[in-house]
Amino acid sequence: MPEAISSDLTSALAAFASQQTILIALDFDGTLAPLVDDPEDSRMIAPARQALEKLTALSGVSVAIVTGRAIDSVKRVADPLKEWFLVGSHGIEVLSPGDVTSYETPWLVPAGLTEAFDAVVKAHPRTRLEHKPFGLALHTRGVEQPVAQAAESAAHEVCDAWGGDLVVRTGHGIVECSIQEATKGDGIEEIRRRLRPSAVLFAGDDRTDEDGFAVLEAQDVGIRVGGGETIASHRLADASAVAEALWFIHDQRACVESGPEL
Ligand SMILES: [Mg+2]
Repeated sequence: MPEAISSDLTSALAAFASQQTILIALDFDGTLAPLVDDPEDSRMIAPARQALEKLTALSGVSVAIVTGRAIDSVKRVADPLKEWFLVGSHGIEVLSPGDVTSYETPWLVPAGLTEAFDAVVKAHPRTRLEHKPFGLALHTRGVEQPVAQAAESAAHEVCDAWGGDLVVRTGHGIVECSIQEATKGDGIEEIRRRLRPSAVLFAGDDRTDEDGFAVLEAQDVGIRVGGGETIASHRLADASAVAEALWFIHDQRACVESGPEL
């Protein structure tokens, strides 16, 4: 049994791996890739990447990246395989395998909202603005605490003052707003409709991942990565532990696939 994985989770993963068809859905930042100050520097750790490549090659296994990042950004930092489903912008963008090559990002954020966020970034040194097709994200990770707090408050004020309906989310060093409403749970449900897997595994490290855990069913497995309150049934410490869990699923599944020797 891998050391980083509890015996409860080991049993759950073994049962999950034995299902006919499985969907492995994973958040990216903080789950497959350690959190870094500049979101553009975020990369999946090698053992996780290798496990996902091997899992993708097995029959009956599908992989999905489920992230708050826009698809445009996932393509740059995650270098996804063409066989993967991609859920971007917290469930607003849902791509089936192969869709990514012809996908054109619709940029829909009103100019006035972008200008207001630009002003927040200019007033708070080292904060950064991420442009998303359906929203904007202010990044404060690595920024001195008082400046980060002031910037986050200013971003909330911009959102409060904006007349239209905005969905506002706060996470690890990030305040973001979106002009359309969807959650990671919606993204997972959409893939479930398209794929109809026997069971789903979802792992994530942040508040927005709780929406993903909320749509899981009895045969599914939810894993919260790192600390924080959660409704997930299981927990892993970090990306390395997630990689170990992925390898465990792979080894169980590869065993089933090769079948008993005759
Ligand atoms: Mg995350």
